[in-house]
Amino acid sequence: MRIAEIFQSIQGEGFLTGAESVFVRASGCNLRCWYCDTPYASWSPEGEDLAVDEIVQRVESFAARHVVLTGGEPMLFPEAKPLSERLRERQLHVTIETAGTRYQPVACDLMSISPKRGNSTPRGAARARWADRHDRSRHAPAVIRRLVAEYDYQLKFVIEEASDCLDVEAYLKELPEINRRRVMLMPQGTEPADLASKSAWLEPYCRAHGLGFCPRRQIEWFGARRGT
Ligand code: SF4
Repeated sequence: MRIAEIFQSIQGEGFLTGAESVFVRASGCNLRCWYCDTPYASWSPEGEDLAVDEIVQRVESFAARHVVLTGGEPMLFPEAKPLSERLRERQLHVTIETAGTRYQPVACDLMSISPKRGNSTPRGAARARWADRHDRSRHAPAVIRRLVAEYDYQLKFVIEEASDCLDVEAYLKELPEINRRRVMLMPQGTEPADLASKSAWLEPYCRAHGLGFCPRRQIEWFGARRGT
């Protein structure tokens, strides 16, 4: 399984914000979001091929009891299932971060799904090469239905502008099995000032509409730095 990085940090997003966690970042993604903040695991995948045993050993060399299998898109890799099982056998709490386009019967305590909407489609020079492929793959309602039926879950949507909130409402209407209390909106951005200006209108919107607000604390704590 190609791995871009394994490191310990603090979870900055979602229900487990603040939890000391080991992050295992799979390298490779079937999507190409223009705003991707881990291009070294999507647009230009880097890393080394590691066996499941080697990954488990490296995770165990850290002290944290939470493990986050992230990417890129970890659900692309057939090793995700045995890896998740092995980590749970060791009494570790496993979160899987996915865009929700591929299903695998992984073992996990929290399925953290970030569906990619029309505001993620590649722009500029990359558009010609990737936009169609990205848009054909990004929306997989059958996969989302299965993930939310089988796992404890949270959904995080990336919001660039106010109209994106209406798009999330349309999505929740299409998939009424999603529990609104498990849905969070997250400002797009990797600069604290940009996040702060979007948060100024997004947080009140979430409060008024019964949705969670997800501020991306890791940027506030560490900046947009690799390995955090
Ligand atoms: S799905 Fe995630 S990893 Fe893949 S391109 Fe989009 S933001 Fe990057």
